[in-house]
Amino acid sequence: MNNQLEQFASDNNSGICPEALEYMLKANQGSAPAYGNDEWTQKATDYFRELFEIDCEVFFAFNGTAANSLSLAALCQSYHSVICHETSHIETDECGAPEFASNGSKLLLAQGENGKLTAEAIESLVTKRTDIHYPKPKVISITQSTEVGTLYSIDELLSIKEIASKHNLKIHMDGARFANAVAAMNKSPAEISWKSGVDVLCFCGTKNGMALGEAIIFFNKGLAEDFDYRCKQAGQLASKMRFISAPWLGLLETGAWLKNARHANQCAEYLENKLLSIDGVEMMFPREANAVFAKLPEHAIQILKAKGWQFYTFIGVGGVRFMSSWNTTQLRIDELVNDIKSAIAES
Ligand SMILES: *Cc1c(COP(=O)(O)O)cnc(C)c1O
Repeated sequence: MNNQLEQFASDNNSGICPEALEYMLKANQGSAPAYGNDEWTQKATDYFRELFEIDCEVFFAFNGTAANSLSLAALCQSYHSVICHETSHIETDECGAPEFASNGSKLLLAQGENGKLTAEAIESLVTKRTDIHYPKPKVISITQSTEVGTLYSIDELLSIKEIASKHNLKIHMDGARFANAVAAMNKSPAEISWKSGVDVLCFCGTKNGMALGEAIIFFNKGLAEDFDYRCKQAGQLASKMRFISAPWLGLLETGAWLKNARHANQCAEYLENKLLSIDGVEMMFPREANAVFAKLPEHAIQILKAKGWQFYTFIGVGGVRFMSSWNTTQLRIDELVNDIKSAIAES
C-alpha cells in the first residue's frame, strides 16, 4: 500500500501526531469516570480557558459537521437564518446538517473574494428584506482560515463584528483550521476569536493531529445553556470522553497544536514557492495558511492522477487543492513538484 501519495488531498488524511497519541495512551491507564466527568476533560477544559484568556464553556464533539451544526442550532430558532459564504463548509460539505440540527434555519449565501464574507455583503443580505416572510438573519458564520486557504485579518473581523452588533447578529466561527490561522497571523487565540466578536468557535483537533475530536467553545456563555443536552440528543456525547479530551490536552500542553499548524503552513509556503517557479502553473488564491490552490493544465492533472497522486479538483475547472498537515515532509513536496514539472512538460 502506498500511503504517501494521498497526503496532499486533505489535512485529515494525516495520522495521529505523537503528542496526541502519547496523551491518549496516558489516559488509557486503568478506568476513569465516563461522559466527561474525568480529570482529562476537566484539565483540557481549563486549558482552553487559559489559552483563550476567558472563562468560556467548552464541549467536545466527534467531528466538525456536528460541532458546526449543533452550535449553529444553539444560536438559532428554526425561523432564523445564518449568513455564510457560498463556499463555506456548512453550505457545501455538511449534507444539510446545520438546517437539520436547527429544524430548518436557512443558510443565506453571500459572495466575496477569496472565500471571505465582507461587511457589505452581510449588510445587503440583512437589509434586503425585513418582512415576516423572510427568515430572520440571526448568525454570521465565518471560517478561519477559509475554505480556500485565506485569512480574515483582524480589521476584516472587526468590521464583521461591527455589522453584527449593528444588526444584533451572533458570530459563529468554523475553526477547522483555527490553529493554522493563529500560527499564520501571529495573533493570540483570543484576538482572533472573542476579542473580534466571535460568540462560538468550533476548534478542530482532527486536522491538527488528533484521531478525532473538536472543541466547541462558547465565549458567550449564555448561548451554551443546555448545550450538553443538545450534544447528547445528537449522539455526540462520547461516553469515554477522555479519549477526545486527553489528546486535546496533549496538543495544548505540549504546544503541539501550534507547532503542527506552523509546520503545515510552512510546508504550504514551500510548495507555493516551488510552484510559482513553474511555467504553466498559476495560483488561484493567496496562500495564507496550509492550503495551496493552483491551476494546472488538464493533461498534467490527468498524468498526476495516473501516477497515484491524490488531490481535490472541486474548485473550478483546472483547479487543484494541495493541503499540508503536521506530517507533510519536504521530501514528499519535492517529489510532487518534480512530478508536476514533468507532467506539464509532457503533452
Ligand atoms: C474539515 C472541515 C470541517 C469538519 O468536517 P468533518 O468531516 O465533519 O469533521 C468543517 N469545516 C471546514 C472548513 C473543514 O475543512
